[in-house]
Amino acid sequence: MHFKSLEFSINKDLLNVSLYNIFCFEIPLDEIRKIDKNFRLKNINEIIFSKNTNKNSNKRFMFLIEKYMPNLKNKITQNKSIYIHENSSIPLFGLKFIGIIDKGSDMIEVKPLTSCNMNCIFCSVGEGISSKKEVDFIVEEEYIVNELAKLIDYKKKKGNTIPISIWINPHGEPLLYSRILDLIKDISKLPLVKDVHIITSGVLLNKEITDELAKIKKVKLNISISSFDSEKAAQLMGTKTYNLANVLNNVKYASEKGIETIITPVYLHGVNDKDIEQLIEFCKNNQLKISIQKFCCNMFGRNPVKEEEWDSFMAKLKTWEKKYNISLIGEGEIRSTPELPLMFKKGDIVQAEITSYGRFFKDKIAVAKGRSILIPNCRKEKGMVKIKITSSVNGMYMGSV
Ligand code: SF4
Repeated sequence: MHFKSLEFSINKDLLNVSLYNIFCFEIPLDEIRKIDKNFRLKNINEIIFSKNTNKNSNKRFMFLIEKYMPNLKNKITQNKSIYIHENSSIPLFGLKFIGIIDKGSDMIEVKPLTSCNMNCIFCSVGEGISSKKEVDFIVEEEYIVNELAKLIDYKKKKGNTIPISIWINPHGEPLLYSRILDLIKDISKLPLVKDVHIITSGVLLNKEITDELAKIKKVKLNISISSFDSEKAAQLMGTKTYNLANVLNNVKYASEKGIETIITPVYLHGVNDKDIEQLIEFCKNNQLKISIQKFCCNMFGRNPVKEEEWDSFMAKLKTWEKKYNISLIGEGEIRSTPELPLMFKKGDIVQAEITSYGRFFKDKIAVAKGRSILIPNCRKEKGMVKIKITSSVNGMYMGSV
């Protein structure tokens, strides 16, 4: 049996199963030996059962995968993890933190996992090494691509001809998704997709990945570098492992390979003002685009400073534009495209089935009418619940029981 998303290794009496590289669970070898005592592993992602074994050996092995998958955990955070796949009964539409978000524009967000190897002091979603989230999520590559294809097809059938940008923008680091190249390749082949943006810290980029990305002509890299000083950069990224020199080399290599690379620093008023100016100069000298992000306070994020007013932020951008003779204020227009129908509105009472935890054990995900609904503070663990929809914004739903 050959797997695209699983890898195997043996550790004492256990078969270690890696799912998408950073998630794992174990199966006791005794259980596998009941299928075939002479089974063997080949090429890390193949398990071989002898020819004379019962014909059902593949089915029985898949049954073991299903049996032990609920023990899935994230190797970085050690969090309990949930695998969302075609048969998991968890729709990819409806949640902020995972799946697909369509706000009825020419930009669609794709969130294939939760998890980050950085720890930015300004992280708007509170991800990373010191994250307090208790549950992580990973989505099957084929499931995302199929659902995205259906969404684009829906827009087309409603008369849309506007090209669409896909933003791979997870609550975490997209390059931790081990099948990221498959994902980008498959998405870029979908009709109407004009480009695929990856929002990344750039830490996990390397020549091999960059060479592959360069072959997919539609890729654009958005790399967040918030200081030009290595110590300060590591401090802002919240981990000493951050290596600015490596990231800058990755940026240069990507740009040499012809990938449009945009530097996206987060501006923290009073913290990295000088650094932002140095980054502007760096981008100017290296013909790179720069898009400065305003730090915004977020209830679920890390908020190291007070948020600056928009007027003051825009005034600063204008000053830097003049000083460096560079364009910093994007003129890109967001165009409307047909949006999926809203399934629920605020105040609706809905019967839904609990299918999973949310990001915390106290929260649950329930499903109704093909949409996922987040229920904060829901004590019930499974079964049907009556929910009052408390929030319905851009196809993302929350409810209370
Ligand atoms: S801002 Fe991005 S890179 Fe930094 S911790 Fe959050 S998800 Fe990770």
